[in-house]
Amino acid sequence: MKTTRKESLFRSLDATGNGRIGKHDILEVLSRSGIAVDDIRLQGLRARLDQLGDETVDAKGLETLLGGTGQLFARAQRGELVIPGFNRFAEQVEAIFDRVRTIDDGRVADYIPQLARVPGERFAVAMCTIDGQALQLGDVSTGFTLQSSCKPLLYCAALEEYGEAKVHAHVGREPSGRSFNELALNNCGLPHNPMINAGAIMTSSLIRRELATADRMEFLTDLVTALSGNRPCHFNNAVWHSERETADRNYALAHHMRERGAFPAGTEIPTALDYYFSACSIETTAPAVATIGATLANGGVCPLTGERVFGEENVKNGLSMMYSCGMYDYSGEFAFSVGIPAKSSVSGVILAVIPNVMGIAVWSPRLDTCGNSVRGVSFLRELVGRFSFHNYDSLVASRKEDPRRLPAAGETSFTYLAIQAASEGDVAELKRLVAHGHDLDAADYDGRTPLHLACAENRVEAVRYLLDQGVSDAPKDRWGTTPLADARKHKRKAIVALFAGRSKVQALKKSA
Ligand code: GLU
Repeated sequence: MKTTRKESLFRSLDATGNGRIGKHDILEVLSRSGIAVDDIRLQGLRARLDQLGDETVDAKGLETLLGGTGQLFARAQRGELVIPGFNRFAEQVEAIFDRVRTIDDGRVADYIPQLARVPGERFAVAMCTIDGQALQLGDVSTGFTLQSSCKPLLYCAALEEYGEAKVHAHVGREPSGRSFNELALNNCGLPHNPMINAGAIMTSSLIRRELATADRMEFLTDLVTALSGNRPCHFNNAVWHSERETADRNYALAHHMRERGAFPAGTEIPTALDYYFSACSIETTAPAVATIGATLANGGVCPLTGERVFGEENVKNGLSMMYSCGMYDYSGEFAFSVGIPAKSSVSGVILAVIPNVMGIAVWSPRLDTCGNSVRGVSFLRELVGRFSFHNYDSLVASRKEDPRRLPAAGETSFTYLAIQAASEGDVAELKRLVAHGHDLDAADYDGRTPLHLACAENRVEAVRYLLDQGVSDAPKDRWGTTPLADARKHKRKAIVALFAGRSKVQALKKSA
């Protein structure tokens, strides 16, 4: 009888074969797949697991326990999340993080005291995939202001409200080739694009004009909260005042735009600027910014709440702008060599997006001469140097690793995967294959089974798991060799003892 997917899932978790699993088995699947324990999607499950304590559940009980998270859990166990080998990926990212941490070039922005006082040593990296897999390294609980990383959000919010044609009647979409706050407009008298100061002042002037000031402000914080998976954000009043007091250039830009008739009729310059400074002064953390990136990577739907915040078309436009204009005077070089949409800011945070995969926040306050975080750029360069995340990597036979989910493998490749996992002692991968309903008895063209390989390579835990799953314990390969014979030949004492112990138990059971 063919087993159902639900049965396969349960069987993959039931390592001892006694028909029961516990809290630990469930938490292990989640942590292995990169789903954080504090993931808001797991709130209900966490409460039920606490209630469960040290008890165990059967297949029916598992279903009740998982409730609404059943789908997520099944996909996690089957390795169907966008980065299936998340822990391995995370280890490699951590190694990059540690290397980049040693860089201490650059200078913290000092045009306002609130930024000048931030310790240059601060460093955080956070990632959030479109399936909500999360990675957090370094100073991830320390707050920083969004500054220019709010610009793509203001642009998308304006697109949501007015549509592309109307927004672009007030702001261009070409890289300016000039500094981000240069007193210059394009040939039509409009700001060159929404990623530079003039452009963001323009989009700020467009958003929710009908609302009272307080409500407009709330709209902004609600927007950031929704994009970041309901994480609360704060408004940094001191930064806002400082920004406002040192804003001669931004005032000059706004007046220049008004002189050229760029604003919609009725725009009040102080109102537009105050709103722009407010957006720059929103304080949040790296995990929140990574989730904002994940919402953009996911076409505007927040992966943690399932809420659609921006329309797909508007996100596509926002990412295009980030790709061509998001990194100040380094935008062209960054698009060429790193090849992902990103928006940099004076607080040292870079909001980066790998479309259809993940959002990344890198925060480190020391900036280079273009105004980009030195460690931020260096981290993203290394990341893309290692993994095939550059937008055009797929066009070349890349030597880089691709941690993304492979297209569904056929039965032959599953046999190969099982054999490889057994020879590497990767029990988690074996569990994943069982969860897919695959047969761990399958042999390759030499008649070698996963059990042969696990025995030959001395993978005791894998041998135990395979035997517990009920695989045939004496299959013969084409040379007539059994797994136990392999273990004896290679002097795998623990495995020989394991077989001996099991046959003793079987003999006792028979005689009883
Ligand atoms: N508040 C800053 C300004 O408008 C933002 C600068 C930035 O992050 O690029 O001058």
